[in-house]
Amino acid sequence: MSSLSLTETRYKEHISPSMTRLLKFSGFYAEEVSANGVYIYDEKGNEYLDCSGGYGVFILGHRHPEVVSAVKDQIDKMPMLSHVFFNPVQAELAEKLANKCGGDLQYCFFCNSGTEAVEGAIKIARLATGKTTIISTKNAFHGKTMGSLSVSGREMYKKGCDPLLPGTVQIPYNDAEALEKTIDEHTAAFICEPIQGEGGINVPDEDFFIKVKKICADKGILFVADEIQSGMGRTGKFLALDHCGIKPDMVLLAKGLGGGIAPIGAIVATKQVWQPFFKNPTIHTSTFGGNQLACRAGLATLEVLEKENLIENANELGKYFISGLKEIKSRHEKVIADVRGIGLMIGVETVEEKYGGYIIYEMAKSKITAVYTLNNQKVIRFEPALIIKKEQIDRVLKSFEEAVTKAEKALSK
Ligand code: PLP
Repeated sequence: MSSLSLTETRYKEHISPSMTRLLKFSGFYAEEVSANGVYIYDEKGNEYLDCSGGYGVFILGHRHPEVVSAVKDQIDKMPMLSHVFFNPVQAELAEKLANKCGGDLQYCFFCNSGTEAVEGAIKIARLATGKTTIISTKNAFHGKTMGSLSVSGREMYKKGCDPLLPGTVQIPYNDAEALEKTIDEHTAAFICEPIQGEGGINVPDEDFFIKVKKICADKGILFVADEIQSGMGRTGKFLALDHCGIKPDMVLLAKGLGGGIAPIGAIVATKQVWQPFFKNPTIHTSTFGGNQLACRAGLATLEVLEKENLIENANELGKYFISGLKEIKSRHEKVIADVRGIGLMIGVETVEEKYGGYIIYEMAKSKITAVYTLNNQKVIRFEPALIIKKEQIDRVLKSFEEAVTKAEKALSK
């Protein structure tokens, strides 16, 4: 039995038969065995140019040598925290993240994933305000644990999980008026992605978050920015909200923060929001959160972002990528409805769902990975590493246009 067949059987019998089918027929019927930079290698040594970027995790690509070396060093010193002593690595990352986020964002809580950051933010918002309601947006994706799911906006993932968290309400994305109308005396916070990732790379109007900030401040509710996918430089600024120059009361980070090496999430908040921790430092805790290994990966990631000027790279190459995709759209209006995004957070909306899977499958044949967004399968998402080069984007554009041309011939009436 080949290694791939054995893994497939183990998936079918011990992970999920339907996940087995999904992976088998998506075009990527192979095992990932190693990875380096923007490439993933399968068991036969095939090289795939990774444009899905682990849904935003691999901002530095795979196994960036500086992060690997920092993490190896930390393993030899002390990778896990005892909770008994001061942890200098966590302290340093907290300071650096606060500085990067800027404004009054000063205090950090570390956890191990995006959804945990969202869960913590919901709790802290309620504790800090003494109010209950959390407003979020339709089509949002904030994770799949119960609190995060409650503020997410896709019914399919919620069905059968009731009762979800009471005191949650969803308004349309990019609708400041709806926010203003929905806030009442019970509202604690508004949680929102600066660009909806899984919702289909939805970019709001330029002044949406300026209005949001004002409404939240006027009405005395907290504004929580879920930058788990859009943060860490992906859009050409450290935070996507930096494009409109406003600061939220809480920022949530995860995915890219661990540089593709270690799982880590973070909540960064203002002093006002942090009052519950002043009263009781153990009001919210995590056994693994803030461990030295993950924090060291975070510190190395921040260093590499700066040293290699990667945020600027995301900005410049994002424009290049988007303009190439827009040109392709102009030649294939029957298949492509829209191209949108900022920096290297890019979505291509196809005219009908049937095109997305077909194009991804065809691109897989030319050894390029791309994925659709979870809440909108019409949208193919490109989130390559910020270290990607122009020539590599050219290869993606060429393969994409070939796939679109084939899809047009095969599926258009
Ligand atoms: N928030 C956003 C904006 C996300 O894109 C995601 C994951 O895709 C999450 C939260 C949940 O993160 P995790 O999968 O690490 O729990």
